[in-house]
Amino acid sequence: MAQLIDGKRISQEIKDELREEAGKLRERGLEACLAVVQVGEDPASSIYVRNKRRACEYVGIRSLLYTLEEAASQEDLLRLIRQLNNDPEVHGILVQLPLPPQIDEKAVLEAISPAKDVDGFHPVNVGKLCIGEKTYLPCTPAGIIELLKRSGVSIAGKECVVIGRSNIVGKPMAMLLLRENGTVTITHSKTENLKAVARRADILVVAVGKPGFLTREYVKEGAAVIDVGIHRDAHNKVCGDVDFADVSPVAGAITPVPGGVGPMTISMLMRNCLEAVKATVVSK
Ligand code: NAP
Repeated sequence: MAQLIDGKRISQEIKDELREEAGKLRERGLEACLAVVQVGEDPASSIYVRNKRRACEYVGIRSLLYTLEEAASQEDLLRLIRQLNNDPEVHGILVQLPLPPQIDEKAVLEAISPAKDVDGFHPVNVGKLCIGEKTYLPCTPAGIIELLKRSGVSIAGKECVVIGRSNIVGKPMAMLLLRENGTVTITHSKTENLKAVARRADILVVAVGKPGFLTREYVKEGAAVIDVGIHRDAHNKVCGDVDFADVSPVAGAITPVPGGVGPMTISMLMRNCLEAVKATVVSK
C-alpha cells in the first residue's frame, strides 16, 4: 500500500515555520501585507479568498480585501491594481480568478507589478522561472515540490511525467521539476500512448481536470503519484483527477484529495508574501 503524502500536515508545518519567520520580521519592523482583490461574488472564489485571509491571519501577514462588483469594468480593476502597485504598504497583490467575462484576465495579470506578483503569474516572473532566476514560484507547483521533498521522495535524476500543460500548473510544474534535476516529460490531450509514457514515471503529476481520470494502467509500480485535480463527485464529495482506490495499491506514494496538494497552495502563497516583504529591504 502506498505511503500517504499528507498535505494537510505538511502545509501546517510550513505555516508554523512561516509564522515564526513572520514574527522575527515584525521584530525588525517588517510586516508583510497582501492585498486580495475579488470581483463579483462567485461562491467558490469567496471560499478561496476567505481561506487565504485566514492563513494570513494565522501566519501574521496583514491582509486587505478589495471587492469590486460583478459588473466592474476592466478599467475599474486596472485602476485599483495601479493604486496597489504604487502603495508602499502593500507587498503582494492577488487577483482571485476567474474574472467575469468583460475583463481580460491576461491584461490584469500583466498589470500587476512583477515585484508584487505573489502568484508568480506575471510573464516577467514566468520568464525568470524558465531561466532559473530567483522569482516568486507559482504556488501549486511549488507546493508539490515541498510535498515531495518533505515526504522523502527524491527528484534528482528521476523520470518525472506531468499530465497537463496549463500555465498555472502543468508548465511551471515541469520547470520546477527540471530545476530539481528531474528528467521531465510534459504530456497533454494530444500525447500518443499516454499510458505507456505515464508508466515511465517515478514521479507522476496529474493535472488534467477530469475526475478519476488516472487509473492504475498509467502507473508504474512504486511511483509517487501527485493528484492536482479538485472536483465534486455525484455525491458532492471532493475528489481528484486520480482514482485513488484503484491507484493506491500500486503507487509507492500518493496524495489524497482533499488533504494533498490543495492545502499546500495557500502555504506557498504565504511564503511568497514573506519573500515580498523581505525583498523590500534588499532593494532599498
Ligand atoms: P486546465 O487548464 O484545464 O488544463 C488541463 C490540461 O490537461 C490541459 O493541458 C489538457 O491538454 C490536459 N488534458 C485534458 N484531457 C487530457 C487527456 N485526456 N489526456 C492528457 N491530457 C489531457 O487545468 P488546470 O488549470 O491545469 O487544472 C487541472 C486541475 O487541477 C483542475 O481540476 C483544477 O481544479 C485543479 N487545480 C488545483 C489546484 C490546487 O491548489 N490543488 C490549483 C490549480 C488547479 P491540452 O492542453 O492539450 O488541452
